[in-house]
Amino acid sequence: MTIRRDFLKFLGSSFLIYLSLPYKLLYSATKKIINPNLSEDQKKIMFNEGTERAFTSKLLKENRRGFYHCANCEAKLFASNSKFDSGTGWPSFSEALPGAFKTKIDYSFGMKRVEYHCANCGAHHGHVFLDGPSATGKRFCNNGLCLIFIPEN
Ligand SMILES: [Zn+2]
Repeated sequence: MTIRRDFLKFLGSSFLIYLSLPYKLLYSATKKIINPNLSEDQKKIMFNEGTERAFTSKLLKENRRGFYHCANCEAKLFASNSKFDSGTGWPSFSEALPGAFKTKIDYSFGMKRVEYHCANCGAHHGHVFLDGPSATGKRFCNNGLCLIFIPEN
């Protein structure tokens, strides 16, 4: 009897692995480290869904005109005119450039949040919330370590 139960348990768990494997493979296939100079902290956020400590990004005080690019692949993600001070301690934007990100529902920490990834390299950047103060209603809460700011001229 116990053998049968163990066998059923084995079947059950391998079925779960079978179900999650294709998704994981597909998902990780779209992520790739392009910039060999990424720091350990950057890799933790971009490829392991980490989050930087609030109020640590030097981009919080960046007010010049220009564009924010992906620190991994340099894709252009945000224009400076969509940046605003949300008071949360992370660089925040009301809107991303068209096609810059792909989103996915994140259920970690008992919350349902929309996580976004660079459409080009798959790196995790942050979460988007629907409590933004501008007309778009959106608040892209981005880890500063995932971004490179390039000023206009
Ligand atoms: Zn990228």
